[in-house]
Amino acid sequence: MTMTEPAPPKAERWTAQWKELYEEVVTTGLCTGCAGCVVTCPHDVIGYEHEEGKYKPFHLEEELGPANCLHGEKGCTTCTRACPRFRQWEPAADMHLFGRVRESDEMAGIWRQLLLTRATDKVQHEKGQDGGFVSAMLIWLLEHDYIEAAMVSGVEPDDAWKAKPVLARNKEEVIATAGSRYTYCANPLALRDAKEQGLSRLALVGMGCQTSSPPVMWDRKAGKVSKPFLFNIGLLCSKTFDDAIFPELFEAKYGLKKQDMVKMNIKGVFQIWMKDGSYHEIDLKECHQWTRQGCKSCPDFAAEHSDIATGGIGKDNDWTLTIVRTELGEEVIERMIKDGVIEARPAQEDEVAMKLLRTLSIVSRRRWPEWADKAVSVGVPPPKKKADGAAPAAH
Ligand SMILES: Cc1cc2nc3c(=O)[nH]c(=O)nc-3n(C[C@H](O)[C@H](O)[C@H](O)COP(=O)(O)OP(=O)(O)OC[C@H]3O[C@@H](n4cnc5c(N)ncnc54)[C@H](O)[C@@H]3O)c2cc1C
Ligand code: SF4
Ligand code: SF4
Repeated sequence: MTMTEPAPPKAERWTAQWKELYEEVVTTGLCTGCAGCVVTCPHDVIGYEHEEGKYKPFHLEEELGPANCLHGEKGCTTCTRACPRFRQWEPAADMHLFGRVRESDEMAGIWRQLLLTRATDKVQHEKGQDGGFVSAMLIWLLEHDYIEAAMVSGVEPDDAWKAKPVLARNKEEVIATAGSRYTYCANPLALRDAKEQGLSRLALVGMGCQTSSPPVMWDRKAGKVSKPFLFNIGLLCSKTFDDAIFPELFEAKYGLKKQDMVKMNIKGVFQIWMKDGSYHEIDLKECHQWTRQGCKSCPDFAAEHSDIATGGIGKDNDWTLTIVRTELGEEVIERMIKDGVIEARPAQEDEVAMKLLRTLSIVSRRRWPEWADKAVSVGVPPPKKKADGAAPAAH
């Protein structure tokens, strides 16, 4: 008799649809509003309003009510495959990108190189939020035909601080959309414009809540909807603010009008530069009440599933902290350095940045609810007790 090997266990069939997404993510506080489910729904039945107090998906068809989907009942599962907060999203994306899950002390996710970078081109450097690295990379990717366009954040024509998802297709459009807006911008929504324009090789620039979506789609075999995402550039992020912070805090308390602001940054304090040349600092504690709802349970400070994550923490404010995570990210950055379009030095030189990266990653992970998937909280140290026994506030 021939001995046969036992058949490998069959992978469990993925059956979760909008019903499960609605129950487990949309209505529980885990939904960040990334719009991953919205742009990938093959039946276009998930709506989304890119407006203050909204930034959340909702079901458009009436047949089964807001909590269920007719196409889902017939077997469509794309939305849960695309959601970067559904069930075991962190191990899924880790395994797909890195072939292993993060170690318990890898609070900022898995990486290959930690650098400080900046664009060598004067305009890119000046227009960029920190070192202009993201803009330099998008331009390089476009010029070297890695991508046809990038999904980024532009602004409304009548309001230079109202962020809006747009496509950048050339150098001029990349420069015009450089810099940071600290309100939410669901950049994946720009995929719709790309489709209309027949563009299918894209980079996504976005916070961790957005850049984890393509890797979970790839891991969960979402199919052709996941194909246009070729390169993910992450932005480090603790939170975004409601648009109401402009009139209700900056203008009402400090007399700083939105239309007169030229630049903002967050470096321990909210920094604001005005057209008249004045500079203002606002304590972040004062801003907390305008934290956007979708950020309140978000555990991912360091955009842990991007090809390259970027931030501005550290002692120099004209360099971009650059966390090179994937092989593809490493290939591109090495070619960019060789081409002389960026300067780079080891980020480990900046001890402050290294410490902050870990601390802020821990602070974000502590927001993840205990009842949700346990992997996200592995290794997260409990908050230090204050002398009187009370735990300190998260920020
Ligand atoms: C909401 C937000 C919060 C952030 N919080 C932190 C933080 O706490 N600590 C930290 O170190 N870094 C943070 N960053 C990242 C930092 O501000 C810079 O974006 C990053 O260092 C890259 O700088 P750069 O000069 O290389 O990028 P640039 O060349 O200026 O390119 C920036 C890119 O970001 C896109 N963008 C701008 N605003 C948004 C938005 N609201 N949503 C999506 N995309 C956007 C632009 O379209 C552009 O493509 C945050 C960024 C954002 C947008
Ligand atoms: S987190 Fe993103 S993909 Fe998940 S339900 Fe919310 S908007 Fe959809
Ligand atoms: S904190 Fe940043 S990464 Fe997290 S949900 Fe908010 S915008 Fe997204």
